[in-house]
Amino acid sequence: MSERRDFLKKSALLSLGTLATSIVSAKKIDAIENIANEHFLLEEYTLPALPYAYDALEPFIDKQTMELHHDKHHQAYVTNLNKALQTAKHPAANSLEEIFKNMTAFDTAVRNNSGGHYNHSLFWTLMRENKDAKLNNPDGKVADAINASFGSVDEFKKQFNDAGAKRFGSGWAWLIVENKKLKITSTPNQDNPLMSISEVKGTPILALDVWEHAYYLKYQNKRADYMNAWWNVVNWNKVNELFAKAE
Ligand code: MN
Repeated sequence: MSERRDFLKKSALLSLGTLATSIVSAKKIDAIENIANEHFLLEEYTLPALPYAYDALEPFIDKQTMELHHDKHHQAYVTNLNKALQTAKHPAANSLEEIFKNMTAFDTAVRNNSGGHYNHSLFWTLMRENKDAKLNNPDGKVADAINASFGSVDEFKKQFNDAGAKRFGSGWAWLIVENKKLKITSTPNQDNPLMSISEVKGTPILALDVWEHAYYLKYQNKRADYMNAWWNVVNWNKVNELFAKAE
């Protein structure tokens, strides 16, 4: 009986010893990781501020949607992108564009979150205030190119809306420039036309988020109503700027 008790006592001490050792090791690993993280933090991706107030796009896109979409959804893509780049081995990449060019070398977490970060950063800049609900048709060179490529602005909007409506589930509608030509396309999830895995590739100059999180609070299941309203706040100055660079 006493032998048995001794044995139990020894075992308990042994496991305590092992536990103590593993605590020390875990602390050491933490310390090493913290140093690595501090170094990494210098180059991590960050959430860009919205270029206008949260309520600037009212009444077409509501304040609460913009708060959640920017502060929660976009922030989550940024946080998870940094995490994904830290926790798995990937080729070195100095920018999102470099990641996109070599997309198959990265895992799904990087694909989803690098796309999420890029797409939203672009999306915010492609909208502007239109409180008086003034007509907001394209102007400048991009208007000429749209008319030449699609016949009319109305026909262009119809095809772009179709691309958004037919995107099953979550994704994006795009106007891209490819070989100096305008093209409408759409991508699933957070993919975009810069990614090497994208079916249709080109330089995005206009983007529309058709994830439910982009419209559900105000428009519920009516994606078409959201898309129609969105044309009122498209920032055609920005589209022209991107078009000039992409041509
Ligand atoms: Mn979104």
